[in-house]
Amino acid sequence: MERSKKVEFIANTLQELYPDTHTFLEYQKDYELLFATILSAQATDKSVNEATSRLFKECPRLEDYNQENKALILDCIKKVGLGKSKCEYLIKTADILLKDYRGELPRDRKALMALPGVGYKTSGVVLAELYDDPFIPVDTHVFRVSHRLGLVNDKLTPEETEVALERLFKGKHSIHLHRQFILLGRNICLARNEKCDLCPLKEVCKYYSKKK
Ligand code: SF4
Repeated sequence: MERSKKVEFIANTLQELYPDTHTFLEYQKDYELLFATILSAQATDKSVNEATSRLFKECPRLEDYNQENKALILDCIKKVGLGKSKCEYLIKTADILLKDYRGELPRDRKALMALPGVGYKTSGVVLAELYDDPFIPVDTHVFRVSHRLGLVNDKLTPEETEVALERLFKGKHSIHLHRQFILLGRNICLARNEKCDLCPLKEVCKYYSKKK
């Protein structure tokens, strides 16, 4: 199948499978999405949502993320893993946001990536979720699914994969696609025991065609 037709087929099929998607992390304020995304590194969304349901109540203002509240913050987030580092990231990031950005989030990927604990993927998630900026952030599911489908070259890094996906799916609803790839990766294209027989994308999948 021609590449552009394959891309269209994948976008349409994902839309049929997952017509309505919502952010996986719970938050009310913009900086809370940033904090939840920082906490989600190497953690499940479920564990992050459990932690933040208490954290955001205990620390309702950006000013509450400070060294005096360190033990409290640590206690709230201890189950997500890497608690000590993530606690420091939240406190330092809150301090920078208050001092340099009047408590607002900068709408700029480089500026976000300069914040402690914020990498390429996290900055893309925040900007795409909050402002619909055209990013398709690549987590482990998006990486696996897009590589198995043969959408991008096997040797690309996650960052290069994101750029390639954004080029291929230009004009599509980026954050919606990001979530659809994740849902496919969680429900069908699992890391182990992928359910190819149930997958509506198998006719265009490179991995499946090699496996047959
Ligand atoms: S056919 Fe299999 S490997 Fe390909 S996308 Fe579907 S589940 Fe993943």
